[in-house]
Amino acid sequence: MYEGVNASDGIGIGVARVAVEPDLSFTPHAPEDAGDEKQRYSAAVAKFVEQTNAQIERMTETVGEEAAAIMGAHIEFAEDEGIVEMVNSSIEAGMCAEQAVSEAYDMYYNMFSNMEDELFRERAADVADVKTGLLADLLGKEVVDLSTLPENSVVVVHELTPSMTADIDKDNVAAIVTETGGRTSHSAIIARALEIPAVLSVADITKVVKSGDMVIVDGSRGRVLVNPADNDLTHYRTKAKQFAEEKLALEAYRGKETVTGDGEKVLLVANIGNPDDANVAAEHDCEGVGLFRSEFLFMGAKELPSEDDQFAAYQKVALRMKNQPVIIRTLDVGGDKEIPYLNLCQEENPFMGYRAVRYCLNNPDQYKVQLTALLRASAFGDIKIMVPLVTNIDEIRQVKALVEECKADLDARGVAYNKDIEVGTMIETPAASLIADDLAAECDFFSIGTNDLIGYTMCADRGNDRVAYLYDVYQPAVLRSLKRIIEEGNKAGIMVGMCGEAAADPLLIPVLISFGLGEYSVAAPSILRTRRIISEWTKAEADALTEKVMKLKTAAEVKAMLQAAAR
Ligand code: PEP
Ligand code: MG
Repeated sequence: MYEGVNASDGIGIGVARVAVEPDLSFTPHAPEDAGDEKQRYSAAVAKFVEQTNAQIERMTETVGEEAAAIMGAHIEFAEDEGIVEMVNSSIEAGMCAEQAVSEAYDMYYNMFSNMEDELFRERAADVADVKTGLLADLLGKEVVDLSTLPENSVVVVHELTPSMTADIDKDNVAAIVTETGGRTSHSAIIARALEIPAVLSVADITKVVKSGDMVIVDGSRGRVLVNPADNDLTHYRTKAKQFAEEKLALEAYRGKETVTGDGEKVLLVANIGNPDDANVAAEHDCEGVGLFRSEFLFMGAKELPSEDDQFAAYQKVALRMKNQPVIIRTLDVGGDKEIPYLNLCQEENPFMGYRAVRYCLNNPDQYKVQLTALLRASAFGDIKIMVPLVTNIDEIRQVKALVEECKADLDARGVAYNKDIEVGTMIETPAASLIADDLAAECDFFSIGTNDLIGYTMCADRGNDRVAYLYDVYQPAVLRSLKRIIEEGNKAGIMVGMCGEAAADPLLIPVLISFGLGEYSVAAPSILRTRRIISEWTKAEADALTEKVMKLKTAAEVKAMLQAAAR
């Protein structure tokens, strides 16, 4: 049995698909026989075409004919007469197949990526994919495509990047296991949103497991069993059944108001990453959206989404939520969220670098495209704008000034929008926490981003396993910060919510009730359970517990007390 971070609840049982990032480096060499080398190359092309055709067939069933047709371009580029001729003549001139393929496809890649026309530029990515596929075959490596997987796959990867998770074939993934990442890494957040059991940070698991192995993943306890014995299989099948039954029991909370034990109403909303998630959130009975991570829209595109594209995405969520509040966070690029086409420089410490609102305010014309799209969508629902990674009052003032400019532009264009749109801030830095009183005077609402706030407060990266013992919401420093933020927001009469993962922490909920949190924004699958736990505590009970908790000096003592009090 292997242990790791319990990142997404549930039991997954299936067949391993080990997706190792293939090392496609090679040493150029002169082949002994050009004829044989050309044969190797044409065999690689034939295999690539065969695999792509099979992929198209699977995708036609899962994502539809139109989307699958896109893969047809890959076949065209693999069989393109001009390219084939170029590769063959390079081989005849003494190159090995790997080098000939590499140079030919690099040439086409450069040509396409420098073209004016967007459609041609998009082809560059297809060319790069074909090159990877052919090289992998020539070098005897396997490239696993996570967007089309066989049924019941347990995906085993070194690191699951947000972009990989964004188009993962979720219906066929039984579980995810990785060698890196913590509970609040974006891979973990997406795995929870997709309700895929996941265990992260299992050392060397890609070396231990082979594709085809049978694997059990216990995402609730952070355990992975490879080729399990029959009794383990029976045990975990029973546990999977229990998990499903508990989930069913929560259905009693569907359609109910979210109220504390003594009837105090709070808002229970969902975190989403793309417009389609809004459907999932609604199915889980959310009362709105407390965080739409708009950066996933940017990450899923090959270039900056236009105002119309963004508007369509935001409008879709607004309409789906039927006038329930929808908080959309403006582009939070940086940290572990990379957007290649923004060409941001490598930095020594990207989590403290040029990112989020800092990047946006430095690129005001680009930022205004997003703000304008948000304003236009506000005519179709209760959209609110939220600013990430704020550390000082100037940032909020500058964003608000840009919003005013966008409003004036829309007035001039005669386009409708909500003139009273709310602009709020995430409180996810110690600086923002310390000036919460001043920020409250400038903002329409707060939403506490505990994922980052814990990391920045404790100086412990959210994805670094070696300092994971410090990255803890029960640390007294973090609890005091939360108390202060909520109190200052409430004093100023603005809504204070929480969209970090801690909002769904069953142990912490009584403390948050006591502090006076007004809105809980959680992953869709956590909605009903959060509603149940909130209903189990009266304010007086929560206050009595919290008073004792706040006197404790260590995270371990806090956790132990909360565990003992849990209902
Ligand atoms: C947070 O930091 O708590 C948060 C909600 O934002 P993200 O996880 O996207 O950084
Ligand atoms: Mg954050």
